[in-house]
Amino acid sequence: MKETEKKYAGVIIDISTETLDRPFEYRIPEALRGVLEEGMEVTIPFGKGNTERKGYVVSISDTAEFEESKLKDILRINEKSIGLEGRTLQLAAWMRHTYGGTMITAMRTVLPVKKKIKESSFRTICREADVARIREQIDSLNPVRYAGRIRLYEALLSAESIPEQMVKDKLQVSASVLRTAEKDGIIRIETTRQYRAPQARVTQEKGEAQLSEHQWAVVNRIRQEMQEETPRPALIHGITGSGKTEVYMELIAGVIAQGKQAIVLIPEIALTFQTLMRFYARFGERVSVLHSKLSDGERFDQFERAKNGELDIIIGPRSALFIPFPNPGIIIIDEEHETSYKSEKVPKYHAREVAEYIAARSHAQLVLGSATPSLEAYYRAEQGQYLLCSLKERFGGAQLPQVHIVDLREELKKGNRSFFSEKLKELLTERMIRGEQSMLFINRRGTAGFVSCRSCGFVVKCPHCDVSLTQHRDGKLRCHYCGHIEETPRLCPKCGSKYIAGFRAGTERIEEELQKWYPSIRVMRMDADTTKNKDDYECILSAFADGEADVLVGTQMIVKGHDFPNVTLVGAIAADLSLHASDYHATERTFQLLAQAAGRAGRGQKRGEVVIQTYMPEHYSIVHAAAHDYEAFYKEEIGFRDLADYPPVCHMLAMQFYSSREGTGMARAAQVAEILRCDKKFEAVQVIGPAEALIGKLKDIYRVGLYLRSKDTDLLIAAKDLVEAMQETQRGTSDVIIQFDLDPTSAF
Ligand code: ADP
Ligand code: ZN
Ligand code: ZN
Repeated sequence: MKETEKKYAGVIIDISTETLDRPFEYRIPEALRGVLEEGMEVTIPFGKGNTERKGYVVSISDTAEFEESKLKDILRINEKSIGLEGRTLQLAAWMRHTYGGTMITAMRTVLPVKKKIKESSFRTICREADVARIREQIDSLNPVRYAGRIRLYEALLSAESIPEQMVKDKLQVSASVLRTAEKDGIIRIETTRQYRAPQARVTQEKGEAQLSEHQWAVVNRIRQEMQEETPRPALIHGITGSGKTEVYMELIAGVIAQGKQAIVLIPEIALTFQTLMRFYARFGERVSVLHSKLSDGERFDQFERAKNGELDIIIGPRSALFIPFPNPGIIIIDEEHETSYKSEKVPKYHAREVAEYIAARSHAQLVLGSATPSLEAYYRAEQGQYLLCSLKERFGGAQLPQVHIVDLREELKKGNRSFFSEKLKELLTERMIRGEQSMLFINRRGTAGFVSCRSCGFVVKCPHCDVSLTQHRDGKLRCHYCGHIEETPRLCPKCGSKYIAGFRAGTERIEEELQKWYPSIRVMRMDADTTKNKDDYECILSAFADGEADVLVGTQMIVKGHDFPNVTLVGAIAADLSLHASDYHATERTFQLLAQAAGRAGRGQKRGEVVIQTYMPEHYSIVHAAAHDYEAFYKEEIGFRDLADYPPVCHMLAMQFYSSREGTGMARAAQVAEILRCDKKFEAVQVIGPAEALIGKLKDIYRVGLYLRSKDTDLLIAAKDLVEAMQETQRGTSDVIIQFDLDPTSAF
């Protein structure tokens, strides 16, 4: 179908997600056919009197849903300067084009749901007693028994008032602690109709820190880049505690001084109370935070305030990107490597790429920061597309933890079949005696089904794709990229041992074993089972922070973003588990997790220790994580990606086929694969599969994946467009739904 034959357009008049569902249909006059694009602002005749109204094109098609004779013509495309709404629409159109899906879903992603806030009331915790008395209280309380109260009191030394929600979520202070504090006359609780930002007590002048020489060097280099005609995104590679946040704040202050605004993305899980207060102390009330607990109305309200120029800074997860600032000057993405920046819903966008688009369009500076940058970002920095800045030391010379690597094969030889090596037991015992806390985790996400040898560490991998094979219901091993199948070996092909099997270790079994070793130990567990409700997660963390357990056992979620001053030991029970996720990111994720864990223990006064238990002590992700050496890791990993044609050296498009009947998705995927393989236009595209997805059936829906690989993203997008057009012709007659994931960050 040529664009010029597409004669009909869906137009919406008022942009708000309530009315998105029903666009009005218009005819495209001949002169505009092939010119009109989704997202454009147009003028249309509306209603009985045909008054001219402004509208936005959300779809273009070759068939009319209404009777042709009743349709009116679009009058013209509005070329004048585009307002905020038009810019939002253009963004949605770009996202639809890049990531697939419909214009309506793209618009739902970028627009907040239009809703007025109910008359609500907000509770604020205000300091009642004077500072001296609070200090006295802190000194007199037993730090282990009253950890919660001490956290609250310390917070009150840095702020005169704090919203109750923040005290509960971010400080993990319980309602009973608040009641006691109120009764003792330390705090007063006020109720207001409007949300009140915390009143930070400004200690230094306007909360500014004196930047170190290294920090200034980074700030100045980025400011210099901002003077360029097309400033490149900057990547700050700085270890945890090196002072990245201070650098961000200095850059933001400069941007605000020019009358522009700042967007700061921080994964919700990593946004601590201390970090938030640093922003409030420096920038006051013109900071706002978006988080998952906001109601639709509250969220909408924040977007309105941003539009009206009432805010300078927004802090939030990836969706904060869509805040309609009149003139954004800087976008910061902290912990840039986090997978939560990729949306799992259509359109499956990555915040980094969307931010790059927005920054380029608004002439804003994009700044990425991480202790363990994603391969994507570091690769671009190496290629000169990004500006690379480093902060190599911890601020104030704080020490990194000491890391021990333990070879589990040696433990097996010594007859130790438990989850705990001698070293880990020794260090755990020390912690018990000293009254310090430990965290033990297994990083098994996405690792169900791989088969390994416990005596030599061998793992069965796909000969074509170099990812672990997964054991399926029928006992056979399969590759979910290319579909390769083989039998599960009875003896280890490498060493002949019979200890080859699926690795089964759960947090529950680790907890049991701990109890066996240390009958008096107090253990808490955090995993999918114990965190079914949102609040469970916070309850466990606050109880652990309050010293109610000696050990927190969990999945990798316990490693991210928490710094408990009394935790001086972190243990990875089987560090290579995540190496065997059947996903080409497996090594990168393992390195990141271990490096983050190794950078975290002992953030308080006490130096921390980390134990990494592994069957592959010589594996580069483990060796370099233990040595805190990102560059060395990057060099080896990018070599592998290059050799195996994986992103970022190549680009990859996952086509995900969902069907309610068995086999229909597979048949369609095979058909698509055939068409793409025969099409000359896609010669430079490698088509892999189709294969049953890693999760072949979920909630009664069958899942099949087809992977496309090319150095040229535009070719992949063209392939997506072709398949979307095919889908269009099959609408209503097929049970197959296709979704697209460009450069997927997780296995499907
Ligand atoms: P990162 O974001 O890289 O983890 P932070 O900016 O949080 O690092 O800094 C780590 C610690 O060092 C924080 O407690 C912070 O307050 C402190 N810090 C960083 N830079 C300075 C500075 N220039 N002056 C005083 N303290 C600083
Ligand atoms: Zn073996
Ligand atoms: Zn394969």
